[in-house]
Amino acid sequence: MTIAFDNSYARLPERFFTRQHAEAVAEPQVIALNTELAEDLGIAADDLMVDWLAGNAVPDGAAPLAQVYAGHQFGNFVPQLGDGRALLIGEVVDEDGARFDIQLKGSGRTPYSRMGDGRAAIGPVIREYIMSEAMAALGVPTSRALAAVTTGERVVREEGPLPGAVLTRVAASHIRVGTFQYFYAKGDVEGLRALADHSIARHDPEADSYVALLDGVVERQARLVAQWMQLGFIHGVMNTDNCTVSGETIDYGPCAFMDGFDPGKVFSSIDRGGRYAWGNQGRIAYWNMAQLAQALLPLLDADEEKAVELAQGAVDRFPALFQRHHVEGFCAKLGIAEPEAGDSSLVEATLEMLAGAGVDYTLFWRHLRGALHDAGPLREVIQGEAFDAWFERWEARVQGLPMAEYTMAGANPVRIPRNHRVEAAIEAAERGDHAPFEALNAALAEPYGEDSALLAHEAGPEAYEVVHRTFCGT
Ligand code: AMP
Ligand code: MG
Repeated sequence: MTIAFDNSYARLPERFFTRQHAEAVAEPQVIALNTELAEDLGIAADDLMVDWLAGNAVPDGAAPLAQVYAGHQFGNFVPQLGDGRALLIGEVVDEDGARFDIQLKGSGRTPYSRMGDGRAAIGPVIREYIMSEAMAALGVPTSRALAAVTTGERVVREEGPLPGAVLTRVAASHIRVGTFQYFYAKGDVEGLRALADHSIARHDPEADSYVALLDGVVERQARLVAQWMQLGFIHGVMNTDNCTVSGETIDYGPCAFMDGFDPGKVFSSIDRGGRYAWGNQGRIAYWNMAQLAQALLPLLDADEEKAVELAQGAVDRFPALFQRHHVEGFCAKLGIAEPEAGDSSLVEATLEMLAGAGVDYTLFWRHLRGALHDAGPLREVIQGEAFDAWFERWEARVQGLPMAEYTMAGANPVRIPRNHRVEAAIEAAERGDHAPFEALNAALAEPYGEDSALLAHEAGPEAYEVVHRTFCGT
């Protein structure tokens, strides 16, 4: 068997990328193969071969290339970034006609590596594997992990030399807001048009105009970021180069699910101002959409004023869309499948109460699931007058809703990738022990189901286990 590649990005103009092979590594070894995902993609398990997963060979039909893009990093525009440690190997089309990129991450230097070594340490590879697969299981649009291999080489990071690794990532595409910004900043309107047409074909085949493409991205991002926040997820680097047109979560760097609820929480040591804090993510996605709209201006209308009006109209839809997903999503967590007029105030009251309680975010929602008939477990994680008053209000609203428990069970996971567990899996993997990594992946595969054998994965961290900082992407 061979993989049936069909590489549409490689057929775009040459200035969209640099054709590039991976740098071979010394002694590649598989540490994880996602054969279930491979099957969904129509890739035979036998074709997941360590030589190409490590970059030591190019599979038949692949057309490896490094994509160029730009982006706002923490608000500052960088006119040229690009795949500095990644390569798009090719695309596959699944049974349903959906197209997916297969990308190697950590595959060596490219013309876009700047000062970087093009490599990845095992920690970030393990983190991305766990987090992206957990997000998929939680029902959040995301890139996926097809495989992870170690390289047998060391990479040097601040902490010292670490084992190197390569992740094989699958995504609906790797087109970013920053990809549009790259062509816009160059004044390359034809490039912009080719990119927009390519994006429409892949992500908005119904779109009959470039405004409709923008509308589609605005809708997907509003839904995505509302979902992140409902799960307590903090992306950590919502730069425009990490913001996809597909609406998938991408680039799991200093990301994390928070333990104790704090709307201002960040895990990234470089995010000193809290730009990408949990509670800011909606505003940031809105800002990112404004950057995309600006980059699309030359395509929207020949008349500049008209183009600005169209762009503004599309971006202006973001706050209401986000708010709708925010309220609907939190209502589901509260057990309300069909929100009514007053329910947004209940949502806000809930978040306010939680912020004052310093409660473990996931455990609160997890135990709310059964609280209509037994509030005992919930009261073990949260107490106080503010909680009691809130609980009465919630109970009055939800009691008697026939679908309440079912709704909560589908919206409040029992298990999320706990930071201390992810760190433990990484530490073990750095020592060559992959068992905790495998156990964690298995436990997170069905995050909404109760399973007493997996109780340890529900628990929040003990004081000494609390993780304050997570990996930077590199
Ligand atoms: P990130 O914020 O992690 O998405 O990365 C931002 C930019 O830095 C992208 O263009 C990456 O390709 C590049 N980059 C990150 N790490 C490395 C590395 N180890 N070597 C080369 N380029 C890198
Ligand atoms: Mg990135």
